[in-house]
Amino acid sequence: MGRRPKDYMKNKIKRVKMKSILRAPKGMPDILPEENLLRRKIFKAVEEMANFYGFGQIETPILEETKLFLHGTGPTSEIVQKQMFTLKTPGGDILALRPEFTPNIIRAYLENGMSNWSKPVKLFSWGPVFRYEQPQRGRYRQFWQCNFEILGSSDPIYDVLTIQIFYNLLTELKIKNLLIEINTIGCDNCRPIWQKNLKNYFHSKQKFLCLDCKNRLKTNPLRTLDCKKESCQSLKEEAPKMIDYLCPECRKHFKQVLEFLESMGLPYVINHNLVRGLDYYTKTVFEIRKTDDNIALCGGGRYDYLVEMLGGKSTPAVGGAAGVERLVELIKKSQKIDLFVKPKVFLIAIGELPKQKSLKYLELLRKAKIYTAESFAHESLKAQLRQADKLEVRYVVIVGQKEALDDTVILRDMKASTQEVVSGEKIVEELKKRLKNDNINII
Ligand code: AMP
Repeated sequence: MGRRPKDYMKNKIKRVKMKSILRAPKGMPDILPEENLLRRKIFKAVEEMANFYGFGQIETPILEETKLFLHGTGPTSEIVQKQMFTLKTPGGDILALRPEFTPNIIRAYLENGMSNWSKPVKLFSWGPVFRYEQPQRGRYRQFWQCNFEILGSSDPIYDVLTIQIFYNLLTELKIKNLLIEINTIGCDNCRPIWQKNLKNYFHSKQKFLCLDCKNRLKTNPLRTLDCKKESCQSLKEEAPKMIDYLCPECRKHFKQVLEFLESMGLPYVINHNLVRGLDYYTKTVFEIRKTDDNIALCGGGRYDYLVEMLGGKSTPAVGGAAGVERLVELIKKSQKIDLFVKPKVFLIAIGELPKQKSLKYLELLRKAKIYTAESFAHESLKAQLRQADKLEVRYVVIVGQKEALDDTVILRDMKASTQEVVSGEKIVEELKKRLKNDNINII
């Protein structure tokens, strides 16, 4: 004998309801559809840049062994000291959510035998990175970067090409008033002497330094120059400058970089305090920002020792990264862009059988690549027509009970306020004809 309804009630599943809704982790915002359209536009510009300059896309895992960053990014860098999200797997491995791309790309370069490819090897990537920091404007814990790396050449032309690519990307995205800040931090031959003098200088000024800088002085004196605190600014101005300590090779390299920048008409200033807190940089370091805003849009530099540090053969390299959220924010603020692709047809169904038929018509329209919108959840014709009107769709296909039984549809021209009955089989053909006459691309 079948169960009676009251048996269902007896066995009803008890669901535990949360008292309040959950929120995304701090500094890790959701990316909603409209913003994703804008991101896609940015990615398209990145891809076009990559294709033109011959970069291949590389995807590395979001998680890597923590020691990759300890070794690559450097144990005294802020990223490793304070900003890494690490976790222990059930098997006991210690992994980190990538806080940047470069060490991962070098790991992949070595692991996949790319060092045997013809040089330079040009790679680009795009994806989320994670840093544990205090969220604020333009600063998140999960943010996206696009990243370009050129491996296997020490030629300064590639330093400038990297800068040029980022500059072009920002220009393509119509971001105006850009300024390139550039500096050199020398190599293993000349940097130690500067570093020693820098340390001595800041030691002599120790009592005026902020607490963070006092600590930086012990771990990585270069990073004292990164300090943004007002109280440390005048001390930085007087500090020894790397440019006065460069070895002949680094001096020549930097001179050539500046000459190339000049000849390309790229707007730059030398910022002697730009050191970019990571341990692996050598020679050129750069950042690009807007002249009317202090926030960096992208940054990078040369890292001639990193491949060797991660177990490969000595391979000079240069690269950089741009922060996608900061680009999104700027574009949203300064430009009005219509991102939605407008549907060309609106499909309306009234009743159960018409809905069934409409699903079939929807598939026919998809195969014909005629971009079609619907609002099947609305039962009333009026509400659906209102929706079509809102989307500014010229052609509406209506399937009512009668049409579903006859295998016909009503084709309504919203602009002319006319409508006619068309055979269901012919609807795609008819729409194609009309859209062609109107000179409208179907997708
Ligand atoms: P970096 O890897 O620190 O050189 O950063 C490269 C670019 O990523 C910066 O110029 C920013 O545009 C972006 N960026 C860095 N940190 C953050 C963050 N916490 N939130 C959003 N964007 C960031």
